[in-house]
Amino acid sequence: MKVPLLDVNAQNHPIGDELRAAFDGVLSTGRFIMGEEVEKFEVSTAQYLGVKHAVGVSSGTDAILLALMALGIGQGDEVICPSFTFFATAGCITRTGATPVFCDSHLDSYNIDFDSAESCVTERTKAIIPVHLFGQSADMDACQAFAKKHKLIVIEDTAQSMGARYGSQYCGSIGDFGTYSFFPSKNLGGLGDGGLLVTQDDALAETAIKMRNHGMHPRYYHQLVGGNFRLDALQAALLNVKFAHYADYISGRQSNAAYYLEQLQGLPGLVLPSVEQGNEHIWNQFTIRVLDGKRDAFKQTLLDDGIGCEIYYPVPMHQQQCFADVVNHEQDLCANTELLAKEVISIPVYPELKRAQQDIVIDAIRTFFK
Ligand SMILES: *Cc1c(COP(=O)(O)O)cnc(C)c1O
Repeated sequence: MKVPLLDVNAQNHPIGDELRAAFDGVLSTGRFIMGEEVEKFEVSTAQYLGVKHAVGVSSGTDAILLALMALGIGQGDEVICPSFTFFATAGCITRTGATPVFCDSHLDSYNIDFDSAESCVTERTKAIIPVHLFGQSADMDACQAFAKKHKLIVIEDTAQSMGARYGSQYCGSIGDFGTYSFFPSKNLGGLGDGGLLVTQDDALAETAIKMRNHGMHPRYYHQLVGGNFRLDALQAALLNVKFAHYADYISGRQSNAAYYLEQLQGLPGLVLPSVEQGNEHIWNQFTIRVLDGKRDAFKQTLLDDGIGCEIYYPVPMHQQQCFADVVNHEQDLCANTELLAKEVISIPVYPELKRAQQDIVIDAIRTFFK
């Protein structure tokens, strides 16, 4: 039996009738841009996350870009983000004309290390983008203290962690802006691209809403330059269907992760992911560390056994060719990140994964580390 890293059909096919009905609904109205389905999605996600404003957008990447644009960040500004993240976090900073400055992450939680961010601050630093990586919150107390001390704006990149909690608060609802992605591999996976931008601030929401549609208000009058960052009505309708099942998708992942954590304890050379005190982890990825330079051999063994796995992320942002001229921090600042890039590997944890499939993964891992 093969075990894929992710199986989107296992999630979407059982609700195929609901999805087709949602498609038919949009088809019959003929309204494909904005409209009721987008509004419904914004109202239900805002309520769920406990935020005042939720703005449906075209992708998780565009949510970050729109947040930076709405804040007026651009040329001459610096924005701190972790080097250990998906490219979009850093790419959006560069696209505004600002400069990304990369800090390190913790070896146990894989999340941003705010101590390492101290040496990244200059008089040009305007914002920080903590990333809630793999389904777990960054240390938001440390983040808020850091931002307050240096008077920085906080944009939470919550692409992988919609529904994860830091204490009683949902990730993405704590900083100035929170951004989410509905790329099919995220916990709330759409049938295509989609994203969300949230904020508690009325003025920021108003600017973001204008900029989502070319800064146009009223029609054909532009006080601001925005873009086309709209969420499709069709995608919103499909997401409304999937959002109704979201609690099950999260608990499926949590139960699979708990089983791994119980079954894979105590193997020498294997480090299991840690859940920080007070966090509710939603396991977008179950990411382990393979020590002693054996990660690539381990990956090959899993692939040979028909087990899907992937390395998120093999190349840190501060080592990407496109950022070669912006890396301005001291050497070794991102030492943990460089180690993580060599040691991490993510194994199947998607909600529809069956126990029998998990047992295959567990057997393969136990055999390797025996
Ligand atoms: C997926 C992801 C994004 C980008 O989301 P898209 O919807 O694919 O544009 C941004 N940041 C992180 C951390 C992600 O994992």
